[in-house]
Amino acid sequence: MTGMIPASEALAQILNAAQPLTDTEMCPLIQAHGRTLAAPQLSPLDVPPADNSAMDGYAIRHADLDSSGAELQPFVISQRIPAGHVASALEPGTAARIFTGAEIPVGADTVIMQEQCRTEDNTVYIPADVSPGNNIRPQGQDIRQGAEVATTGQRLTPQTLGLLASIGIDQVPVLRRLKVAILSTGDELVEPGRPLKPGQIYNSNRYLLAGLLDKMGITCIDLGRVEDTPEATLQALSRATLEADVILSTGGVSVGEEDHVKHAVEKLGELALWKMAIKPGKPLAFGRVGDTPFFGLPGNPVSAFITFLLFARPYLQTMQGLTPLLPQGSQMPASFKRPRKSIRQEFVRVKVTDDGKMETHPNQSSGVLSSTSWSNAMAIVPVDTTISEGDLVQVIRYDQLF
Ligand code: AMP
Ligand code: MG
Repeated sequence: MTGMIPASEALAQILNAAQPLTDTEMCPLIQAHGRTLAAPQLSPLDVPPADNSAMDGYAIRHADLDSSGAELQPFVISQRIPAGHVASALEPGTAARIFTGAEIPVGADTVIMQEQCRTEDNTVYIPADVSPGNNIRPQGQDIRQGAEVATTGQRLTPQTLGLLASIGIDQVPVLRRLKVAILSTGDELVEPGRPLKPGQIYNSNRYLLAGLLDKMGITCIDLGRVEDTPEATLQALSRATLEADVILSTGGVSVGEEDHVKHAVEKLGELALWKMAIKPGKPLAFGRVGDTPFFGLPGNPVSAFITFLLFARPYLQTMQGLTPLLPQGSQMPASFKRPRKSIRQEFVRVKVTDDGKMETHPNQSSGVLSSTSWSNAMAIVPVDTTISEGDLVQVIRYDQLF
């Protein structure tokens, strides 16, 4: 009915057009958080590089204990090995004082934690019933030499940076950063910090999109506000193609006479304009300006937010060399009802609380940006479906999307 297309169909077309970046660069490891790895990383060494002590205690050769003898057996302390210092071979029949992380001396095979021992002058009394190999972290226990610790297309998390550092890597090949131009169309828009005149509102989409791009590790080329005229629209779009890999605009994609984006993009490239069967966020434009991919998101900030998450985000992730996350979310009992079926799939702004309950923002209008700031998840109402409170619905948390 009315030429609307399902979100899944639009997404499939959009992702079909997405080409990952191929330019790579070397990046110092300390700056590589959030970047996409461009080549597999193999370990040049075992981690840990040698057997070392998991405890502060005493290292001995287990065979030196007399298991049929006294409960506590005396050993002369023949050396002291703090972490980072090189040990000599263990003198037979003695113990080495050893600290966590210190390499096990040649000849020792067991560490007894200090709490289980008693010391007197230069002698340590060690319990006879310890097991051989205790409290030793064996060489290569974490990573074997030659093992792949990270792979192409992986987004570098803090944990992976730590892991790469542990194998001695100080620079990594990464895809270059994606550059996305954002522009906000609308004569009514004013930047925060200036007084509002009659008829004006503040430009919120610019800040919303800049934040979303930042979260994705994308460089934002901020082209500010664009007047509702054909000339200004053509000019801003042409300028955006000079630097950006992708252009995102908001507003101006309905079919009113003040909506100039559609015509401008058609003039400079090509455009598909979809009425999508989703709520909020009905109009979405996708195409190219020259060769630069273009998204025309709706002007309503809530619709801009939802369509960014559903369509722009996976497209941009693909360009970033990532496999777009399409989280399944989880099923939860609905905290709202929808007694009437709709031909549009609805994304309800909800809050999932720490104790696993759902609350619904009372105003789901696409003009109410408070609902997106208040919520931490969206609950999905499928087309042609009625929902009673307590019915299971699919819920995707915003933090699952990045
Ligand atoms: P449009 O798609 O241009 O007709 O805009 C739809 C609605 O969203 C209108 O009420 C606009 O005033 C509003 N809008 C458009 N762009 C922005 C923006 N950048 N910030 C806040 N509201 C906007
Ligand atoms: Mg407008």
